[in-house]
Amino acid sequence: MLYSGPAFSAQALGDGIVELKFDLAGDSVNKLNQAALKDLDAATQAIAKVPDVKGVILTSGKPVFIVGADVTEFTGISAAGGEAVAKGVLGVNQMLGRFEDLPFPKVAAINGVCLGGGLELALACEYRVMSTAASVGFPEVKLGIFPGFGGSVRMPRVIGIDNAVEWIATGSDKKPDAALKDGAVDAVVAPELLRDAALAMVKEAIAGKLDWKAKRAEKLAPVKLNALEQMMAFTSSMAVVGGKAGPNYPAPMLALRSMQESAGKGRDDALAIEAKYFAKAATTPQATALVGLFLADQAVKKASGGWAKKSAKEIKQAAVLGAGIMGGGIAYQSASKGTPIIMKDIRSEALDLGLNEAGKLLSKQVEKGKITPEQMSATLARIRPTLNYGDFKEVDIIIEAVVENPKVKKAVFAEVEGMVRDDTIIASNTSTISISFLAEGLKRPQNFVGMHFFNPVHMMPLVEVIRGKQSSDEAVAATVKLAQKMGKTPIVVNDCPGFMVNRVLFPYFAGFHMLLRDGADFAAVDKVMEKFGWPMGPAYLMDVVGMDTGVHAAGVMAEGFPDRMKPDFQSTTEVLVGHKRYGQKTGSGYYTYAPDKKGKPKKSAYPQAYDLIKGVVADRKEFTPDEIVARCMVPMVNEVARCLEEKIVASPFEADMSLIYGIGFPPFRGGACRYVDQMGVANFVALADQYKSLGKLYDAPKLLRDMAAAGKKFFG
Ligand code: NAD
Repeated sequence: MLYSGPAFSAQALGDGIVELKFDLAGDSVNKLNQAALKDLDAATQAIAKVPDVKGVILTSGKPVFIVGADVTEFTGISAAGGEAVAKGVLGVNQMLGRFEDLPFPKVAAINGVCLGGGLELALACEYRVMSTAASVGFPEVKLGIFPGFGGSVRMPRVIGIDNAVEWIATGSDKKPDAALKDGAVDAVVAPELLRDAALAMVKEAIAGKLDWKAKRAEKLAPVKLNALEQMMAFTSSMAVVGGKAGPNYPAPMLALRSMQESAGKGRDDALAIEAKYFAKAATTPQATALVGLFLADQAVKKASGGWAKKSAKEIKQAAVLGAGIMGGGIAYQSASKGTPIIMKDIRSEALDLGLNEAGKLLSKQVEKGKITPEQMSATLARIRPTLNYGDFKEVDIIIEAVVENPKVKKAVFAEVEGMVRDDTIIASNTSTISISFLAEGLKRPQNFVGMHFFNPVHMMPLVEVIRGKQSSDEAVAATVKLAQKMGKTPIVVNDCPGFMVNRVLFPYFAGFHMLLRDGADFAAVDKVMEKFGWPMGPAYLMDVVGMDTGVHAAGVMAEGFPDRMKPDFQSTTEVLVGHKRYGQKTGSGYYTYAPDKKGKPKKSAYPQAYDLIKGVVADRKEFTPDEIVARCMVPMVNEVARCLEEKIVASPFEADMSLIYGIGFPPFRGGACRYVDQMGVANFVALADQYKSLGKLYDAPKLLRDMAAAGKKFFG
C-alpha cells in the first residue's frame, strides 16, 4: 500500500500503474467532505513522491462513485460571507489542481452515481470510463449554487460551451449514452468490464497511443472558440437560461456569467473567476433556502423511513373506495408501483372513467418510451374494478376516496368494516374531516388512519399520513410504508380538521378573500403572488381546486376553528359558486377556460366575474405588492406556527416540506418556517401586528412571539 487514509488509498498494481481508491470510512456513500478532500490531497502528495509511477486509475470502493460534496457542510456558508466562501473553494481547487498536475495520465472509472464534486474530480483526470449502470451530472443549481470545484471551468473546455451550459444550467443527471455523445466520458462499458477498461485505457496513454498530454493541455488553456464565437454562444444561452430560471433562481445565470468571463483565461485565472461567482451564488438567500430544503427532504425521508421500519405488515393487496378524481389516481399510482388494487365504486360509469384515466396516463408513458406496451397491460391488470365487496377479505388496506361528506363516509366505513379481516387497515383520503371524528363508531378504530393524497395524485409527491387519537402505531407505520412504495413522500401528522396542509392553506385563502372584500383586483393579487413564487395565484388556484370544493372545505375548517376561520362576510368564491361557476372544471370561475391545442385547459381573463362579485366587494382599491403578500402570507405562516405549537406536525423541516410537496410553496423560499427565518422572526411578528385589526388569523401565536423575544430561529 502506497497510501492509506480515512477516505483514499493508493496501491501499486504493477507496470507503474497506481490505483487510487475512494472508500470513505464509516459511510455508505463516497462524498467529498472537507476531511475527504484533505485526504485526497495527502494521497496525491504521497503518489507524487513514489518513483516510477506512470499512470493512475481512480476507482470507488462503494456502489456509488461519488455523490458530490457534503451538503451538510453548506449550512453555515452564507453566514461565513462571500470572501470566506471564495477562499474555501480556491483552497479545494488548489488540491484538485495538484491532482490534475501529477506528471502522468489518470483515468476515472465511474462505476455508479457521480455527481457534482464527484464529476469535478473525474474531470481533473484526463480520461473517464463509465459503467452502463452509472449516471453523471451537475445538480448544483438545484441547491442555488453551481459547480465550484473547477466544474464550470473544465466542463466547457472538455465538452464545449453549449453542452456545458446545458449540463450546468439544467442540473439534470445524464445517462451513459448522453454523457458519451457529449464527450463528457470517453467510453461506456458494462459494469463488470469497467476496471479492465480503465486499466487498458491508462496503459494506452502510458504507451503513447492516447495523447493524454493534449487532453490535459485542453483543460489548462482558454476555451477553443474565438471571441466572436464565444459571444454568440453565451448570448444565445443567456436568453434561454435566464428565461427558464427566472429572477428567483439566480444560480444558472451566475454560472453562465462565470463561464463567459473565464472562457478566455487559462485554468488558474479561470478558477479565480469561478470562485468569485460561486461565492455570490452561495451567499444568496435562495441558496440558503434550497440547501435547507435538501436537508429537510433528507430529514423527512429519515423520519418516514423510521416509521416504515416499524411495520412488519406486507401490503400485498390494496383497495380503493370511489373511482373519482382521487380514487382513480390512487388506483393508477398503486398499480404502477406494483401493488395490486381493487377499485370499488357504486356506479359502473365511474369505474370506466377511473380506468380510462389510468389508461390515458399509461399510454402517454408508452408514447414517451418510458414503459413498454406490455408493462402498460400489466399495470392495468393490477387494477380490478368492482361494484361489490366480493374479494375484500384478501385486502390488507382500504383507501377510502368517496365524496367529502362525513355521513356518507361513516356509512361506508360501517359497511366495509364488516367485509374485511380484523387486521385490515382502513385509511381515509378525506381532505379536511378529523380522523378521530370519522373513527367514532368504528369497531376497530386502531386500524383507522388518514392517508391524504394531493391532486393530481400521480404528480404531487406528498401524502399526509394522519394519526387519529386511536390509530395504532402499526397502522400508521404500514400506511407510511405503502405511501413510500407508491413513490410518494409521506409525512406523519397528528389529527385536526384540515390536518397540516389544508389547515394552513385555508387561512391563506381567507387572506385572499379579505383582500377582495376590501377592493383588491383578483387578477392583480394573482400576479403578485405568482411573482412571489407560487405556481399559481390564489384565484387561479381556487379555480383549479374547484370553487364548490373550496367553499365546502372552508366550511369544515370554519367549524373546526370558528375563532378565526369563520368569516363574517360572504366571499367572492361563495358568490361564484352561487352562479354555478365552479372553476376550471365548469369552464369558468375567476377566469374562463378553453382547451388548448393539446386539450389542456387554457386560462383567459373573464370580465363577467367582476360583475358577478361586485355585490360583495368594496370599490376598487390599489394595494401595494408588499401589502398583498403580507395579507395572504401572514395568516398561512401564523397557522403553520400554531400547527407546530399543537404538535400537529413534528418539526419545522416537516412543516416546510409538506407545503412544498403538497401545495407548491415556492421552493427557493424554502417553506414557511424558512421564510420567517429569512425575514427575521421579530420582523414577521411586527408585520403581523400591523394587520391585527383584520382578525385573529393575523395575530401571531405565542410560539412566534416567544421566538422573537428570545431572538430564536426555526433553523440553526
Ligand atoms: P369524486 O366526486 O371525483 O369521486 C367520488 C367517487 O366516489 C364517485 O365516483 C362516487 O361514485 C364514489 N362513491 C360515492 N359513494 C360511494 C360508495 N359508497 N362506495 C364507493 N364509491 C362511492 O371525488 P374526489 O374529488 O375524488 O374526492 C374523493 C375524496 O378525496 C374526498 O374525500 C375529497 O375530499 C378527497 N380529496 C379530494 C381532492 C381533490 O382535489 N379532488 C384532493 C385531496 C383529497
